[in-house]
This record gives sequence, structure tokens and C-alpha cells, in this order.
Amino acid sequence: MKAHGCPFCQLDVKSEKVYHEDNSFIVLRTVNLKGHRERIMIIFKQHEHTIPHKAFEHALDLLSKIGKKAFSYTPKFVIMDSTFATINDHWHLVATDLNPESEDFSQILATRWVSVVDNTVDQEVKLT
Ligand SMILES: [Zn+2]
Repeated sequence: MKAHGCPFCQLDVKSEKVYHEDNSFIVLRTVNLKGHRERIMIIFKQHEHTIPHKAFEHALDLLSKIGKKAFSYTPKFVIMDSTFATINDHWHLVATDLNPESEDFSQILATRWVSVVDNTVDQEVKLT
């Protein structure tokens, strides 16, 4: 299902930096990097506000794994809750580095983190 006027439904994946795509999810670089060297997100392919728990776990796992490569330049990155996201009726999660010089750093600090991924160890730290 696609929704008119939803930027994620209208996404032209050919013009984006796509890291992964399967039947349910797309992982890609965000259009606006907001001053970060890398900023990626995972989008559910259907226009849904929430997704089943199992799909959520899978998405988190995917984003962590891909993030470990995409953010290999920095020791830690975080996966943010999308409660306060501009687009919140289409399920997605953003992963970002913690560059204090970035445009949205104060917003990153104010947002609940779903996960902190430590690139220096194999195990990720789950906050949920
Ligand atoms: Zn949508």
C-alpha cells in the first residue's frame, strides 16, 4: 500500500544510495545528512505506522549490521526512535553518528535511542 504525498512512498530508490533492499525493507542514506558524514535509515516498504514486533527486531538487526559498515569511521552510532520524526505515519528508523558539530545534535540528544551500536565490540547494547 502506498500513500499519496508521503515522501517515503514516493521515494525514487534509483537516485538514492541504497545499502540494502528486500521484500519488506529498504536501507538507504538519508537525503539530508544534517552535517553528518553518514546518516542512514531503514524504511518499511508498506505505508504503515507500526510494524509487527518480529519485523521490528529484524529491522533493528539489519540496520545495526549495515550501520557497522557504513559507520566504520566512528566508534559508536545510535539508532533513534522516530516518535518525533517529521514523517511519523510511515514506519522508519534513522541511524546516525554522534558528531557534536552536526545540525541536529541537540535533537539527537533529546530523542530516545532504540539502540547504541558499539563498533569496537561485536555485541550491540540494546536499550529496549
Ligand atoms: Zn508512506
